[in-house]
Amino acid sequence: MVKVTQEVNKEIITFNQNMGYDLIVIGGGPAGVIAAILASNRGIKVLLLEEVVICSNLYNIQNIEDFPFTDDEEVSGSKLAEIFMNQIEKNNIEIAYERVIKLDILKNKNKKVITQRHVYFAKSIILASGMQNRTVQVPGSKKYYGRGLSYCAACDALSLTGKDAMISGNNEYAVKTALYLANYVHKLYFVTECNNIQATDKVNRKIMLHPKIQCYFQHKLDGLYGKEVIEKIKITSLLTDKSIMCDVSGLFLYHDVAGCMEYLKENTDINVDIDNEFINTSNLMETTISGVYSIGSLRNNYLKRIITFSSEALIAINEIQNYLYFLK
Ligand SMILES: Cc1cc2nc3c(=O)[nH]c(=O)nc-3n(C[C@H](O)[C@H](O)[C@H](O)COP(=O)(O)OP(=O)(O)OC[C@H]3O[C@@H](n4cnc5c(N)ncnc54)[C@H](O)[C@@H]3O)c2cc1C
Repeated sequence: MVKVTQEVNKEIITFNQNMGYDLIVIGGGPAGVIAAILASNRGIKVLLLEEVVICSNLYNIQNIEDFPFTDDEEVSGSKLAEIFMNQIEKNNIEIAYERVIKLDILKNKNKKVITQRHVYFAKSIILASGMQNRTVQVPGSKKYYGRGLSYCAACDALSLTGKDAMISGNNEYAVKTALYLANYVHKLYFVTECNNIQATDKVNRKIMLHPKIQCYFQHKLDGLYGKEVIEKIKITSLLTDKSIMCDVSGLFLYHDVAGCMEYLKENTDINVDIDNEFINTSNLMETTISGVYSIGSLRNNYLKRIITFSSEALIAINEIQNYLYFLK
């Protein structure tokens, strides 16, 4: 065994030349978990790397739609996360709770995955690190980030229990997050620049009829105010230019999403879409680097749904099986 220490981003990490895997999956969301389970079932030696907790992003989803595989009529995100975790345990999947900070995947056939604590080696990699909300520039947004302004409902909803809050966004995620937040807050302003709700009819009805949610369509955020933390938000109508002040203790911004790929900064050979938001792959989930695949919401795909990612995972694992066979 060769043990070496090396300094990366000022943190001491250790690496072990014998820590080799057939496959490393980066990201323990639904896509990564399904891929890891399918790989393990095929006898592929797999390691799942997850920064936070398994399926962390499911915890703020009240009802999962388009997932018709459970007995319940409606399944919550946390229930689904529990189901995925049980499957991981049942299948003895090896997990390391570590943040991937860098990949070295060009020079060697044996690819290096560098986390804050270790360097791991693998013959193939699946990038499944998902997506996150992009930061948005609203007057005052820099000052109040972490002081009432949040991009993560699952992280900050609890601190707003019984208080008034606002969510602003133009996509389905904003709408569904509003329903989740309404479980905690006293009153929720839902502010969107669109003239209707960007979600399914079922979700639309829930929002419109919700006693705690007040919708403002075709409105934009015009300013955040407060001494230390957010206390008031000005919103302005796009139609009449009329503004109103809302007294709130928190603001959630769900405007735009982009893939989590900070660790790929130096891997310029990986092809990404024109806005630099998602990873382009072939229909077989191959990236532009041999042995590296991408699936799930990180991938430049059309329907960002768990059911879609299940088939992406299967396709990727099938390809990896072939790839490993010919690598021998
Ligand atoms: C509000 C909301 C409602 C939704 N409703 C539905 C629905 O009803 N039905 C449906 O099918 N889908 C729904 N979705 C979409 C679905 O939740 C996502 O598309 C799905 O979670 C994406 O899965 P994923 O595995 O690709 O990524 P993610 O779930 O984002 O998982 C990626 C994981 O990678 C980890 N990670 C990121 N970077 C690193 C790193 N550097 N190192 C290690 N780990 C890392 C993250 O911690 C995360 O756990 C909804 C999404 C939102 C936000």
